[in-house]
Amino acid sequence: MGYIEEIRGVLGHRPLITVGAAVIVRDAEGRVLLQQVADQRWGLPGGLMEPGESLEDTAVREVWEETGLTVDGLTLVGLCSGPGHHHVLDNGDEIYAVTAVFVAHRYAGELSARDPETLALRFWAPDRLPANLRQGSDRFVEQFRRWLAEPAEKRPVYSHRPEGYRCPFCAVARGEHHAGLRTLQQDVVWRDSRVTAFVASHWWPRNAGHVLVVPNRHFENVYDLPAALGADIQAVTQRLAHAFKAVYGCDGVSTRQHNEPAGGQDVWHYHVHVFPRYRADELYLGRRRETTPEERAPYAAKLRSWLEAADASGPACST
Ligand SMILES: [Zn+2]
Repeated sequence: MGYIEEIRGVLGHRPLITVGAAVIVRDAEGRVLLQQVADQRWGLPGGLMEPGESLEDTAVREVWEETGLTVDGLTLVGLCSGPGHHHVLDNGDEIYAVTAVFVAHRYAGELSARDPETLALRFWAPDRLPANLRQGSDRFVEQFRRWLAEPAEKRPVYSHRPEGYRCPFCAVARGEHHAGLRTLQQDVVWRDSRVTAFVASHWWPRNAGHVLVVPNRHFENVYDLPAALGADIQAVTQRLAHAFKAVYGCDGVSTRQHNEPAGGQDVWHYHVHVFPRYRADELYLGRRRETTPEERAPYAAKLRSWLEAADASGPACST
């Protein structure tokens, strides 16, 4: 028996506040996946959280159960709650739903209606969605549209990104893995809904295993980065600093962040370098060199397992 059914056994039809996730899955043409259920209405795949799950776990599980697809690279685009999310179900159950809306940057598998209540699964052009959307799904889609229109797409203040730039850090953050990228997914040591961190492809002679921290959404530089996202990046930087001390046994930690060519920037996606430091390592005098995936792998593996263990035992620093 699911968690909600169990609670219903105690509560009956009385109002219940539920927590769940809905997911925007897009195909290569940007069309949005919708599921049609028994009442003929269309809605986003998603559902309610089970005990022990994170919201991301709920999103991944529900998409798998309802569509047969495995999604990856989730970004939170909005939270929906309030009067528009009050439902009285056909059986009389009353709920006030709190729903996290995610966009999935990747999916794998074939569409298959695993749930017997699913009548159809289909990708729809976002400007031609069916009129009979399920209650709530219209608002989820609206959140997604708003997220798409947020300032990430506005023209940066001071931009040096060439026309048609294929951003390597966006690709890493989305979980892409192909020969055109210097950074592989095995270099990634941290990923959450806003920030990704990975062992850098270029190292300085005495500071092996330094890490880059990037926002998952594309912002070119410090002029454009939302301050709140800067705080998220700092939180991950701080975790890494603790990880470096524990894993590398370094004497200190330095960060560097470059903007515009004159500021030493050469990848047009905001990033913070986090370096392990050692006495007399002469970081600022040395020249960087490109590394091999084999060199980086043990550093990434050790950092990843330390961060995972630290995450499981609670945050390193609470605010
Ligand atoms: Zn980018």
